[in-house]
Amino acid sequence: MNRACPAYEPLLLDRAAGELGPVDATRLERHLDGCPACRAEADAVDLAL
Ligand SMILES: [Zn+2]
Repeated sequence: MNRACPAYEPLLLDRAAGELGPVDATRLERHLDGCPACRAEADAVDLAL
């Protein structure tokens, strides 16, 4: 099972909850483009909520 980067895991949770601010959202999207582990975690969090 993939693990998201610790620095981005809180952002993934905020994003799934719809509480991510625009600056962090842009930062996270840019990171997701190059980080399969966080992309997988983002999908998992979306399914869990
Ligand atoms: Zn990552």
